[in-house]
Amino acid sequence: MSIENTQAILTSHSVTITDIKAAQQRLLGIVHHTPVITSSSVNERTQSQVFFKCENFQRTGAFKFRGAYNALTQLSTEQKKTGVITYSSGNHGQAIALGGKLLNIPTTVVMPEDAPPVKQTATRAYGAEVILYNRQTTNREELTKGLAHERQLTLIPPYDHPHVIAGQGTTALELIQEVGELDLLLVCCGGGGLISGCAIATKALLPNCRVIGVEPELADDATRSFYSKTLQTVHNPNTIADGARTPSLGKITFPLVLEYVDDMVTVSESAIIRTMLFLWERLKIVIEPTGVLAAAALLEGVITAPGAKIGVIISGGNVDLSQIGELLTTRYYSR
Ligand SMILES: *Cc1c(COP(=O)(O)O)cnc(C)c1O
Repeated sequence: MSIENTQAILTSHSVTITDIKAAQQRLLGIVHHTPVITSSSVNERTQSQVFFKCENFQRTGAFKFRGAYNALTQLSTEQKKTGVITYSSGNHGQAIALGGKLLNIPTTVVMPEDAPPVKQTATRAYGAEVILYNRQTTNREELTKGLAHERQLTLIPPYDHPHVIAGQGTTALELIQEVGELDLLLVCCGGGGLISGCAIATKALLPNCRVIGVEPELADDATRSFYSKTLQTVHNPNTIADGARTPSLGKITFPLVLEYVDDMVTVSESAIIRTMLFLWERLKIVIEPTGVLAAAALLEGVITAPGAKIGVIISGGNVDLSQIGELLTTRYYSR
């Protein structure tokens, strides 16, 4: 490959604040401007000033709708007509399904058969065709690519796509536009789409604000990748944070995380559950396990920043409430 070709590919893959601002324009009037919540008991406990950006109130219950819609609107007329396919443990699938419905684009979502039933049901309800697979025996990306080829569908992956990353970045852009200066932004990390977009937006607007990513201990691939500067993977991690069960960062998100993120930390399963209950009680809002990762790092003292102004992204709220009893009796949970 010539140097020019390599350059062209790098340029087309890199996401800038301009792309994130353009995404915000495309999403205007379509996505919800989600609320920013504060809590004096959280501020007291952490000795800081915390601003929760509540994407559990986003359409489809998670920030994923931002990236999905931004990507869907930029397809060609021909691509829109034949339709799109994606693989997702849930929230991206729902986001693509709703986006497809709004834009009149047929959608197919490949989902693990053990994905939370609430996510499967919602995805079908938005009009997508759902194809289930077994996480132990099937490689979802190969299955999806095969189907995409067979049916001539355009693949919109959940995180490793510049338009998806730019869309997710509007979460931090919106938060900063509302609260202004921040010393620290905490963002959960699965495949790294959300944190890449948010870190790019943050560093462009608030160059002195530190951006820290948070993962479950049981799915610490991005943290290991960050420290070793070599892409690390994890196989079917058994974390309750199902949105962070991704095997690794992506080809696009990994370099972005290395470039724009200041640090990566992990939290235990019991920390995730304790934080979920604490936030349900104190903020009176329902947040899914993956959605509390960033808050858990702060509330459990993994990160301390006394006196700081801290943005915390609450990424989603799709949790099967009927399974909560089970969660509280898991071997991981202790109060
Ligand atoms: C997808 C998802 C994540 C992880 O996002 P990435 O872009 O894959 O890092 C975190 N929280 C929720 C609720 C999600 O749906």
